[in-house]
Amino acid sequence: MIRGDAGEASLCQRASELVRARRIESDADLGPLFETTLPDCDPEMLKRLRQMYEAGGWVLVESALADLPADLRWLLESGAVTIEQLEAIHHSLAVTSAADLAAAVRERTLRALPGFDADTEAAVGAALPTLRTLIPRIPLGRATATAEVLLQRLRTVPGVAWALPAGSLRRGQDMVGDIEIVAPTDRPADAIEALLSLSEDAHLLHRSQRRLYMVTDRTQAGVRLPEPSNAGATLLYLTGSAAHFEVLRAHAAAAGWRLTAGGLHQADGTLVPAATEDIIYAALGLPCIPAEIRNGDEEVAAAIRGELPTLVARGDIRGDLHMHSTWSDGRDTVAAMVQGCRALGYEYMAMTDHSPHSAAVRNLTADGVTRQAEEIAQLREQHPDIAILHGCEVDILPDGRLDFPQKILERFDIVLASLHERAGHSPEQLMQRYVSAMKHPLVTLVTHPTNRVVPTRPGYDLDYDRLFEIAATTGTIVEIDGAPSHLDLDGALARRACAAGVTLAISSDCHRAETLARQMDLGIATARRGWVEARHVLNTRSLADVRAVIARKRGPD
Ligand SMILES: [Zn+2]
Ligand SMILES: [Zn+2]
Repeated sequence: MIRGDAGEASLCQRASELVRARRIESDADLGPLFETTLPDCDPEMLKRLRQMYEAGGWVLVESALADLPADLRWLLESGAVTIEQLEAIHHSLAVTSAADLAAAVRERTLRALPGFDADTEAAVGAALPTLRTLIPRIPLGRATATAEVLLQRLRTVPGVAWALPAGSLRRGQDMVGDIEIVAPTDRPADAIEALLSLSEDAHLLHRSQRRLYMVTDRTQAGVRLPEPSNAGATLLYLTGSAAHFEVLRAHAAAAGWRLTAGGLHQADGTLVPAATEDIIYAALGLPCIPAEIRNGDEEVAAAIRGELPTLVARGDIRGDLHMHSTWSDGRDTVAAMVQGCRALGYEYMAMTDHSPHSAAVRNLTADGVTRQAEEIAQLREQHPDIAILHGCEVDILPDGRLDFPQKILERFDIVLASLHERAGHSPEQLMQRYVSAMKHPLVTLVTHPTNRVVPTRPGYDLDYDRLFEIAATTGTIVEIDGAPSHLDLDGALARRACAAGVTLAISSDCHRAETLARQMDLGIATARRGWVEARHVLNTRSLADVRAVIARKRGPD
């Protein structure tokens, strides 16, 4: 009935495309559509489309498609509700997301709508878990880039107090659902106009006084413009996770408060206005819990015990130890990358191009190492305000050796080792290659250890606890790579690495200067999901400390 896999266009997406391509403008166009223009369409989808058509004609189908947020369109496809019911949910309850729906089911408000009863409410509740798996998710990197444009615009609109992402985007999940933004303002119409004038490609899905849903950059984005006085409640609720909110709600209830999607209420029902999330957490006797660890598993208990970690933040980062230039597959010159790092205020950076047998489109050759060293020497003279380490990202070859001879490796200030190619090896063989690299005195750091590609390729299936143990005993640094396709280690593995006593590095692995900041931020968000603190991270330390870590492993000459 429903197409869940991301590669397959859903019924709604497919029909929306047809509407936009102007192949359907009226009911009369729809009849022949079933016979002729959708030969490659899934028969089940076609059947559903026809049912919708027969139930109310194209007008209903189109309004259901064009004016409803993505989560609700999926609910329609799940078959749990009719179009009329869906419109009632949307327009009477102002429900726009799966999170809203969950709240409406939990608070039993759906059953009070005309045409609803406890059974329909239960059907919607039953469809929710499926809905979560069906809604196409967006890689964090793309969601961040899309949201950033909207956030920056909103922050320049007079009257907007602040603008922050919410949901899984704010929590830094590898794959996020819809982009949701919260931007409190007393003048919501101005903010809406500003967003609609941003891009000619932006397509408006829904607009009400304090809410906007649009498709921009092929992605749905929802913007809520609450009144500033209680905007913290909106942000807290929309940030989730649902499990975190549930734990908070129970904690509030135990103290005689009532926490709902609308905010925090005293026992007599009086709303406690919360301009920021901190006000709600403080009222519950808690410090503000960082969004990245709001999983509903142990963070509230840790907060109650006063044992919340101080998570690593952008301000802690003093340098970036992994990036590429035109000497391998980077787009920008070393000079441009140096400028980019200086603009970020870094004290140090490492230029780490790929070794000769890497699968990158262009690699550093042995001869290139000498010429790159000369170029870096010149740049050091021009820019004494930043330390430029000459490094490389050397491939770990199938036999476990490194892809540069010892004599060349010795010339680098820092050596990063990478297992880019599986070479048909079993997990045990892959581990052996990692082990020989980590035991190599010249290898300071292992990059993107699982070598996954988000969202298409899972990482190596290794015994990571063993890998972390060897990293800790050999004094090898393990990386959290912030490139959107890597985010590797992920939060969960990073947490295990810290527990094993491993020191981490957070790197951008940038191939162009303009993404140095964004990819470092993605790496930091990933680290924060793993409860990583500044003390766990090498590149929060001084250059002297970084050099000492490298020297300690290299041992006496
Ligand atoms: Zn790499
Ligand atoms: Zn790299």
